[in-house]
Amino acid sequence: MNIVLFGPPGAGKGTQAKILREKRGLPQLSTGDMLRAAVASGSPLGREVEAILARGDLVSDAIVIRIIEERLRMADCAKGAVFDGFPRTIPQAEALDKLLAGFNRKIDVVIELRVNDDILLSRVQQRIDSGTTRPDDNPETLKNRLAVYHKNTAPLLDYYGRQGKVLTIDGMMPIADVTTAIAAALDAKAK
Ligand code: AMP
Repeated sequence: MNIVLFGPPGAGKGTQAKILREKRGLPQLSTGDMLRAAVASGSPLGREVEAILARGDLVSDAIVIRIIEERLRMADCAKGAVFDGFPRTIPQAEALDKLLAGFNRKIDVVIELRVNDDILLSRVQQRIDSGTTRPDDNPETLKNRLAVYHKNTAPLLDYYGRQGKVLTIDGMMPIADVTTAIAAALDAKAK
């Protein structure tokens, strides 16, 4: 099964993707993690994207499509994957559909984790207070990441909605309840 976890920054996509990896053995394909690893390694790609990540802007479609394409060629993706933070633009979604079609695969379901903006801001503030932040976890950058989400990424809900693939879950529930709701949605879909 190929699953897109969809939602604004801080909605809990990464947390739920890790749980799906544990429970269903599906690899977590997080472009954010891949880009942060590139930055940490100091590679040419990392140097190219570092400032973009720090501002909370989007890295170019060409770059993220390339890294997803490389990742999808790996054997562990044959049974499916959980996409976390990708796609984030319509061209990325179109490229993903094409790439998967080339492997005789497709996106089966898009799980939207819906969380209000004020809750996202307070979650980031909690991470700052507890000292578990990333460089792009500060109120200013988060505001930009949210604006980018609403402008570039939220339109994907229509794209996938037209394909009848979107299941919306209240991402403001406790983590375990979100996990349960996702599992129920996936099991219903698999039937
Ligand atoms: P994330 O961990 O998914 O919040 O991603 C962290 C940052 O990486 C984002 O704010 C963007 O700068 C960049 N990024 C991650 N995924 C993508 C994507 N699919 N398209 C463009 N930029 C991305």
